[in-house]
Amino acid sequence: MPEKMKFGTKAVHAGVEPDPSTGAIMTPIYQTSTYVQEGVGKHKGYEYARSQNPTRTQLQNSLAALENGTHGLVFGSGLAAIDAVLKLLEMGDEVISTNDLYGGTYRIFTTIFAKFGIKFTFIGMEDATAIEQHITPKTKLIWLETPTNPMMRVADIKAIAKIAKKHQVLFAVDNTFATPYLQNPLDLGASIVMHSATKYLGGHSDTVMGALVVKDDELAKKLYAIQNSSGAIIGPFDCFLVLRGIKTLHLRMKQHCINGMAVAKYLTNHPKVGKVHYPGLEDHPMHHIAKEQMRDFGGMVSFSLKNDDLQAALDVLAKVKIFALAESLGGVESLIGHPATMTHASIPKEEREKIGLSDSLIRLSVGVEDSEDIIRDLEQALAD
Ligand SMILES: *Cc1c(COP(=O)(O)O)cnc(C)c1O
Repeated sequence: MPEKMKFGTKAVHAGVEPDPSTGAIMTPIYQTSTYVQEGVGKHKGYEYARSQNPTRTQLQNSLAALENGTHGLVFGSGLAAIDAVLKLLEMGDEVISTNDLYGGTYRIFTTIFAKFGIKFTFIGMEDATAIEQHITPKTKLIWLETPTNPMMRVADIKAIAKIAKKHQVLFAVDNTFATPYLQNPLDLGASIVMHSATKYLGGHSDTVMGALVVKDDELAKKLYAIQNSSGAIIGPFDCFLVLRGIKTLHLRMKQHCINGMAVAKYLTNHPKVGKVHYPGLEDHPMHHIAKEQMRDFGGMVSFSLKNDDLQAALDVLAKVKIFALAESLGGVESLIGHPATMTHASIPKEEREKIGLSDSLIRLSVGVEDSEDIIRDLEQALAD
Protein backbone atom coordinates (compact mmCIF):
# COMPACT_ATOMS: atom_id res chain seq x y z
CA MET A 1 0.00 0.00 0.00
CA PRO A 2 1.32 3.47 -0.81
CA GLU A 3 2.41 5.51 2.22
CA LYS A 4 0.32 8.63 1.59
CA MET A 5 -3.25 7.49 1.12
CA LYS A 6 -6.24 9.76 1.49
CA PHE A 7 -8.81 9.01 4.16
CA GLY A 8 -11.37 7.03 2.14
CA THR A 9 -8.67 4.81 0.67
CA LYS A 10 -7.25 4.22 4.13
CA ALA A 11 -10.69 3.40 5.52
CA VAL A 12 -11.10 0.67 2.89
CA HIS A 13 -7.55 -0.68 2.82
CA ALA A 14 -5.15 0.49 5.52
CA GLY A 15 -3.78 -2.02 7.98
CA VAL A 16 -5.71 -4.87 6.41
CA GLU A 17 -3.97 -7.56 4.36
CA PRO A 18 -5.59 -10.50 2.57
CA ASP A 19 -5.51 -13.53 4.85
CA PRO A 20 -2.06 -15.12 4.40
CA SER A 21 -3.30 -18.70 4.63
CA THR A 22 -6.14 -18.50 2.06
CA GLY A 23 -6.06 -15.10 0.39
CA ALA A 24 -9.51 -14.25 1.81
CA ILE A 25 -10.00 -10.54 1.09
CA MET A 26 -12.06 -10.07 4.25
CA THR A 27 -10.19 -10.68 7.47
CA PRO A 28 -11.51 -13.99 8.82
CA ILE A 29 -12.98 -14.27 12.30
CA TYR A 30 -10.24 -16.19 14.07
CA GLN A 31 -12.47 -17.83 16.65
CA THR A 32 -9.72 -19.54 18.58
CA SER A 33 -8.31 -19.27 22.07
CA THR A 34 -4.88 -20.69 21.32
CA TYR A 35 -2.42 -21.46 18.51
CA VAL A 36 -0.45 -24.63 17.89
CA GLN A 37 3.29 -24.12 18.24
CA GLU A 38 5.77 -25.91 16.00
CA GLY A 39 8.08 -26.47 18.93
CA VAL A 40 8.60 -24.97 22.35
CA GLY A 41 8.62 -21.19 21.88
CA LYS A 42 8.41 -21.60 18.08
CA HIS A 43 5.24 -19.86 16.92
CA LYS A 44 3.93 -17.44 14.30
CA GLY A 45 3.55 -14.45 16.63
CA TYR A 46 0.34 -15.80 18.12
CA GLU A 47 0.38 -17.74 21.39
CA TYR A 48 -2.85 -17.17 23.29
CA ALA A 49 -5.85 -15.10 22.21
CA ARG A 50 -5.93 -12.74 25.18
CA SER A 51 -2.47 -11.64 24.07
CA GLN A 52 -2.95 -11.70 20.28
CA ASN A 53 -5.66 -12.52 17.77
CA PRO A 54 -5.24 -11.97 13.99
CA THR A 55 -8.71 -10.41 13.52
CA ARG A 56 -7.93 -8.01 16.34
CA THR A 57 -4.47 -7.25 14.97
CA GLN A 58 -5.89 -6.16 11.62
CA LEU A 59 -8.48 -3.93 13.28
CA GLN A 60 -5.84 -2.39 15.52
CA ASN A 61 -3.63 -1.69 12.50
CA SER A 62 -6.54 -0.16 10.62
CA LEU A 63 -7.35 2.16 13.53
CA ALA A 64 -3.70 3.16 13.92
CA ALA A 65 -3.62 4.13 10.24
CA LEU A 66 -6.85 6.16 10.43
CA GLU A 67 -5.60 8.16 13.41
CA ASN A 68 -2.11 8.61 11.94
CA GLY A 69 -0.68 6.68 14.88
CA THR A 70 1.67 3.70 15.00
CA HIS A 71 -0.17 1.43 17.44
CA GLY A 72 -3.83 0.65 17.98
CA LEU A 73 -5.35 -1.31 20.86
CA VAL A 74 -8.95 -2.43 21.13
CA PHE A 75 -10.90 -3.31 24.26
CA GLY A 76 -14.20 -4.79 25.40
CA SER A 77 -15.80 -1.32 25.57
CA GLY A 78 -14.93 2.35 25.43
CA LEU A 79 -14.84 2.34 29.20
CA ALA A 80 -12.39 -0.57 29.22
CA ALA A 81 -10.14 1.55 26.98
CA ILE A 82 -10.42 4.46 29.44
CA ASP A 83 -9.73 2.03 32.29
CA ALA A 84 -6.49 1.01 30.53
CA VAL A 85 -5.33 4.63 30.20
CA LEU A 86 -5.99 5.31 33.89
CA LYS A 87 -3.97 2.21 34.82
CA LEU A 88 -0.88 4.00 33.49
CA LEU A 89 -1.13 6.10 36.66
CA GLU A 90 -0.13 5.45 40.25
CA MET A 91 -1.63 6.21 43.61
CA GLY A 92 -1.31 9.92 44.38
CA ASP A 93 -1.25 10.99 40.73
CA GLU A 94 -3.59 13.72 39.56
CA VAL A 95 -5.77 14.04 36.47
CA ILE A 96 -7.23 17.21 35.01
CA SER A 97 -10.37 16.46 33.04
CA THR A 98 -12.99 18.46 31.15
CA ASN A 99 -16.09 19.03 33.24
CA ASP A 100 -18.43 18.35 30.31
CA LEU A 101 -17.92 14.71 29.64
CA TYR A 102 -19.46 11.35 28.94
CA GLY A 103 -21.33 10.23 32.07
CA GLY A 104 -19.60 6.84 32.20
CA THR A 105 -16.18 8.48 32.03
CA TYR A 106 -17.10 10.71 34.97
CA ARG A 107 -18.31 7.63 36.81
CA ILE A 108 -15.18 5.51 36.30
CA PHE A 109 -13.00 8.45 37.35
CA THR A 110 -14.93 9.34 40.49
CA THR A 111 -16.20 5.96 41.72
CA ILE A 112 -13.43 3.56 40.64
CA PHE A 113 -10.09 5.33 40.26
CA ALA A 114 -10.65 7.96 42.99
CA LYS A 115 -10.83 4.96 45.38
CA PHE A 116 -7.30 3.98 44.39
CA GLY A 117 -5.93 7.37 45.36
CA ILE A 118 -6.04 9.17 42.03
CA LYS A 119 -7.28 12.75 42.25
CA PHE A 120 -9.50 14.30 39.58
CA THR A 121 -10.07 17.97 38.90
CA PHE A 122 -12.91 18.86 36.52
CA ILE A 123 -12.66 22.17 34.69
CA GLY A 124 -13.91 23.84 31.53
CA MET A 125 -11.25 23.63 28.84
CA GLU A 126 -12.43 26.19 26.27
CA ASP A 127 -9.82 28.48 27.73
CA ALA A 128 -6.70 26.33 27.46
CA THR A 129 -4.63 28.69 29.59
CA ALA A 130 -6.95 28.00 32.56
CA ILE A 131 -5.61 24.44 32.64
CA GLU A 132 -2.12 25.52 33.58
CA GLN A 133 -3.12 26.90 36.97
CA HIS A 134 -4.42 23.44 37.96
CA ILE A 135 -1.23 21.59 37.06
CA THR A 136 0.80 20.40 40.03
CA PRO A 137 3.95 18.24 40.14
CA LYS A 138 1.57 15.29 40.64
CA THR A 139 -0.47 15.94 37.50
CA LYS A 140 0.13 13.06 35.10
CA LEU A 141 -2.80 13.18 32.69
CA ILE A 142 -5.06 15.68 30.96
CA TRP A 143 -8.32 14.15 29.73
CA LEU A 144 -10.26 15.92 27.01
CA GLU A 145 -13.42 15.30 25.07
CA THR A 146 -14.04 17.53 22.05
CA PRO A 147 -16.72 18.02 20.89
CA THR A 148 -18.19 17.17 24.28
CA ASN A 149 -21.13 15.06 25.17
CA PRO A 150 -23.82 16.42 25.29
CA MET A 151 -23.09 20.18 25.22
CA MET A 152 -21.03 20.02 22.00
CA ARG A 153 -18.36 22.22 23.52
CA VAL A 154 -15.08 22.44 21.68
CA ALA A 155 -11.59 22.83 23.10
CA ASP A 156 -8.39 23.72 21.30
CA ILE A 157 -6.45 20.44 21.07
CA LYS A 158 -3.26 22.07 19.80
CA ALA A 159 -3.16 24.66 22.60
CA ILE A 160 -3.78 22.03 25.30
CA ALA A 161 -1.16 19.74 23.76
CA LYS A 162 1.40 22.54 24.11
CA ILE A 163 0.64 22.89 27.81
CA ALA A 164 0.76 19.12 28.31
CA LYS A 165 4.12 18.90 26.56
CA LYS A 166 5.57 21.79 28.55
CA HIS A 167 4.67 20.06 31.83
CA GLN A 168 5.41 16.54 30.53
CA VAL A 169 1.88 15.39 31.19
CA LEU A 170 0.10 12.73 29.12
CA PHE A 171 -2.73 14.17 27.04
CA ALA A 172 -5.60 11.89 26.06
CA VAL A 173 -8.45 12.91 23.76
CA ASP A 174 -11.76 11.07 23.57
CA ASN A 175 -12.37 11.38 19.82
CA THR A 176 -15.63 9.41 19.77
CA PHE A 177 -17.86 12.26 18.53
CA ALA A 178 -15.52 13.50 15.81
CA THR A 179 -14.09 10.18 14.59
CA PRO A 180 -10.77 10.11 12.72
CA TYR A 181 -12.66 11.27 9.62
CA LEU A 182 -13.18 14.70 11.15
CA GLN A 183 -10.32 15.13 13.59
CA ASN A 184 -6.92 13.57 14.31
CA PRO A 185 -5.76 14.54 17.82
CA LEU A 186 -2.34 12.83 17.48
CA ASP A 187 -1.52 15.19 14.60
CA LEU A 188 -2.36 18.10 16.89
CA GLY A 189 -0.03 16.92 19.66
CA ALA A 190 -2.15 14.59 21.83
CA SER A 191 -0.40 11.50 23.20
CA ILE A 192 -3.40 9.14 23.26
CA VAL A 193 -6.60 9.01 21.19
CA MET A 194 -9.51 7.10 22.68
CA HIS A 195 -12.68 5.92 20.93
CA SER A 196 -15.87 4.26 21.88
CA ALA A 197 -15.90 2.16 18.69
CA THR A 198 -19.45 1.28 19.70
CA LYS A 199 -20.44 4.54 18.04
CA TYR A 200 -19.35 5.81 14.60
CA LEU A 201 -16.44 3.40 14.00
CA GLY A 202 -18.70 0.37 14.26
CA GLY A 203 -21.49 2.57 12.96
CA HIS A 204 -24.32 0.04 12.92
CA SER A 205 -25.35 -0.19 16.58
CA ASP A 206 -24.37 -3.85 16.70
CA THR A 207 -21.36 -4.05 19.00
CA VAL A 208 -19.71 -2.47 22.04
CA MET A 209 -15.97 -1.79 21.77
CA GLY A 210 -13.26 0.64 22.83
CA ALA A 211 -10.01 1.69 21.16
CA LEU A 212 -6.80 3.55 21.86
CA VAL A 213 -4.26 4.80 19.33
CA VAL A 214 -0.80 6.19 20.14
CA LYS A 215 2.34 6.96 18.18
CA ASP A 216 4.94 6.39 20.86
CA ASP A 217 6.56 2.95 21.16
CA GLU A 218 7.11 3.12 24.94
CA LEU A 219 3.54 4.21 25.62
CA ALA A 220 2.24 1.52 23.27
CA LYS A 221 4.24 -1.12 25.16
CA LYS A 222 2.83 0.02 28.50
CA LEU A 223 -0.74 0.03 27.20
CA TYR A 224 -0.30 -3.38 25.58
CA ALA A 225 0.96 -4.73 28.91
CA ILE A 226 -2.20 -3.38 30.56
CA GLN A 227 -4.45 -4.78 27.80
CA ASN A 228 -2.84 -8.19 28.21
CA SER A 229 -2.58 -8.14 32.02
CA SER A 230 -6.01 -6.69 32.83
CA GLY A 231 -7.58 -8.74 30.07
CA ALA A 232 -10.43 -6.47 28.93
CA ILE A 233 -10.04 -7.71 25.36
CA ILE A 234 -12.72 -7.95 22.69
CA GLY A 235 -13.68 -11.06 20.73
CA PRO A 236 -12.83 -11.59 17.06
CA PHE A 237 -16.43 -11.40 15.83
CA ASP A 238 -16.76 -7.86 17.18
CA CYS A 239 -13.42 -6.99 15.57
CA PHE A 240 -14.80 -8.26 12.26
CA LEU A 241 -17.90 -6.07 12.64
CA VAL A 242 -15.91 -2.92 13.34
CA LEU A 243 -13.45 -3.69 10.52
CA ARG A 244 -16.47 -3.88 8.24
CA GLY A 245 -17.93 -0.69 9.69
CA ILE A 246 -14.71 1.24 9.13
CA LYS A 247 -14.77 0.52 5.39
CA THR A 248 -17.73 2.91 5.01
CA LEU A 249 -16.77 5.37 7.77
CA HIS A 250 -16.03 8.18 5.31
CA LEU A 251 -19.27 7.64 3.38
CA ARG A 252 -21.39 7.53 6.51
CA MET A 253 -19.66 10.53 8.08
CA LYS A 254 -20.26 12.63 4.97
CA GLN A 255 -24.00 12.05 5.30
CA HIS A 256 -23.97 12.46 9.11
CA CYS A 257 -22.35 15.88 8.58
CA ILE A 258 -24.85 16.98 5.90
CA ASN A 259 -27.79 15.87 8.03
CA GLY A 260 -26.32 17.25 11.28
CA MET A 261 -25.94 20.69 9.74
CA ALA A 262 -29.44 20.59 8.20
CA VAL A 263 -31.01 19.64 11.54
CA ALA A 264 -29.00 22.26 13.47
CA LYS A 265 -30.10 24.99 11.06
CA TYR A 266 -33.73 23.86 11.15
CA LEU A 267 -33.79 23.87 14.96
CA THR A 268 -32.13 27.28 15.17
CA ASN A 269 -35.12 28.77 13.36
CA HIS A 270 -37.78 26.93 15.36
CA PRO A 271 -39.82 29.18 17.69
CA LYS A 272 -39.99 26.60 20.50
CA VAL A 273 -36.28 25.83 20.51
CA GLY A 274 -33.97 27.64 22.91
CA LYS A 275 -30.28 27.06 22.36
CA VAL A 276 -28.92 24.76 19.62
CA HIS A 277 -25.50 23.27 20.30
CA TYR A 278 -23.62 22.35 17.12
CA PRO A 279 -20.00 23.30 16.40
CA GLY A 280 -20.82 24.01 12.76
CA LEU A 281 -23.09 26.94 13.63
CA GLU A 282 -21.39 30.29 13.34
CA ASP A 283 -22.73 31.41 16.71
CA HIS A 284 -21.14 28.40 18.46
CA PRO A 285 -18.67 29.99 20.91
CA MET A 286 -15.78 27.85 19.64
CA HIS A 287 -16.77 27.69 15.98
CA HIS A 288 -13.42 29.21 14.93
CA ILE A 289 -11.48 26.42 16.68
CA ALA A 290 -13.84 23.72 15.41
CA LYS A 291 -13.28 25.01 11.87
CA GLU A 292 -9.55 24.83 12.37
CA GLN A 293 -9.19 21.38 13.91
CA MET A 294 -12.15 19.53 12.36
CA ARG A 295 -12.80 18.84 8.68
CA ASP A 296 -16.58 19.10 9.14
CA PHE A 297 -18.89 19.10 12.16
CA GLY A 298 -20.46 15.67 12.52
CA GLY A 299 -23.91 14.35 13.29
CA MET A 300 -24.36 15.17 16.97
CA VAL A 301 -26.69 18.03 17.83
CA SER A 302 -28.22 18.99 21.17
CA PHE A 303 -30.81 21.63 21.98
CA SER A 304 -32.91 22.96 24.79
CA LEU A 305 -36.46 24.25 24.72
CA LYS A 306 -37.22 27.94 25.12
CA ASN A 307 -39.47 27.30 28.13
CA ASP A 308 -36.95 24.78 29.54
CA ASP A 309 -39.82 22.54 30.55
CA LEU A 310 -38.95 18.94 31.42
CA GLN A 311 -42.38 17.61 30.45
CA ALA A 312 -42.30 19.41 27.10
CA ALA A 313 -38.94 17.79 26.37
CA LEU A 314 -40.25 14.37 27.33
CA ASP A 315 -43.24 14.95 25.02
CA VAL A 316 -40.89 15.52 22.07
CA LEU A 317 -39.11 12.29 22.90
CA ALA A 318 -42.44 10.47 23.00
CA LYS A 319 -43.67 11.90 19.70
CA VAL A 320 -40.75 11.24 17.33
CA LYS A 321 -41.25 8.39 14.87
CA ILE A 322 -38.05 8.12 12.84
CA PHE A 323 -35.78 8.99 15.75
CA ALA A 324 -35.54 6.06 18.14
CA LEU A 325 -35.48 6.79 21.85
CA ALA A 326 -32.26 5.17 22.96
CA GLU A 327 -28.91 5.68 24.60
CA SER A 328 -25.81 5.53 22.41
CA LEU A 329 -25.07 7.37 19.17
CA GLY A 330 -23.16 7.16 15.92
CA GLY A 331 -25.20 4.45 14.20
CA VAL A 332 -26.79 4.80 10.76
CA GLU A 333 -30.21 5.32 12.35
CA SER A 334 -31.22 8.56 14.07
CA LEU A 335 -31.43 8.37 17.86
CA ILE A 336 -32.88 10.78 20.38
CA GLY A 337 -32.00 10.95 24.05
CA HIS A 338 -32.56 12.96 27.20
CA PRO A 339 -29.15 13.35 28.89
CA ALA A 340 -30.43 14.51 32.30
CA THR A 341 -32.37 11.29 32.86
CA MET A 342 -30.48 8.90 30.56
CA THR A 343 -26.76 9.11 29.69
CA HIS A 344 -25.89 11.76 32.29
CA ALA A 345 -28.05 10.69 35.20
CA SER A 346 -24.88 9.62 37.07
CA ILE A 347 -23.70 13.25 37.13
CA PRO A 348 -25.19 15.17 40.08
CA LYS A 349 -27.80 17.83 39.15
CA GLU A 350 -25.62 20.70 40.47
CA GLU A 351 -22.73 19.52 38.26
CA ARG A 352 -25.07 19.15 35.28
CA GLU A 353 -26.42 22.66 35.70
CA LYS A 354 -22.91 24.12 36.00
CA ILE A 355 -22.23 23.06 32.43
CA GLY A 356 -25.62 24.15 31.12
CA LEU A 357 -27.08 20.65 30.87
CA SER A 358 -30.64 21.68 31.64
CA ASP A 359 -33.66 19.44 32.20
CA SER A 360 -35.06 20.22 28.73
CA LEU A 361 -31.85 19.40 26.88
CA ILE A 362 -32.42 16.90 24.07
CA ARG A 363 -29.56 15.14 22.32
CA LEU A 364 -29.79 13.94 18.75
CA SER A 365 -27.55 11.47 17.03
CA VAL A 366 -28.55 12.36 13.49
CA GLY A 367 -28.37 9.27 11.29
CA VAL A 368 -27.87 8.84 7.56
CA GLU A 369 -31.53 8.75 6.52
CA ASP A 370 -32.80 11.46 4.12
CA SER A 371 -32.59 14.80 5.87
CA GLU A 372 -36.09 15.84 4.69
CA ASP A 373 -37.60 12.90 6.57
CA ILE A 374 -35.52 13.57 9.66
CA ILE A 375 -36.58 17.22 9.75
CA ARG A 376 -40.23 16.40 9.09
CA ASP A 377 -40.11 14.04 12.07
CA LEU A 378 -38.76 16.78 14.34
CA GLU A 379 -41.33 19.20 12.98
CA GLN A 380 -44.27 16.99 13.96
CA ALA A 381 -42.72 16.15 17.34
CA LEU A 382 -42.24 19.84 18.18
CA ALA A 383 -45.75 20.81 17.00
CA ASP A 384 -48.51 21.43 19.58
C1 LIG B 1 -20.14 5.83 24.59
C2 LIG B 1 -19.03 6.71 24.96
C3 LIG B 1 -18.00 6.28 25.83
C4 LIG B 1 -18.01 4.92 26.48
O1 LIG B 1 -17.91 3.90 25.54
P1 LIG B 1 -18.59 2.44 25.71
O2 LIG B 1 -18.24 1.77 24.45
O3 LIG B 1 -20.05 2.66 25.91
O4 LIG B 1 -17.97 1.83 26.92
C5 LIG B 1 -16.97 7.16 26.10
N1 LIG B 1 -16.95 8.41 25.56
C6 LIG B 1 -17.91 8.86 24.74
C7 LIG B 1 -17.82 10.23 24.20
C8 LIG B 1 -18.98 8.03 24.42
O5 LIG B 1 -19.94 8.49 23.62
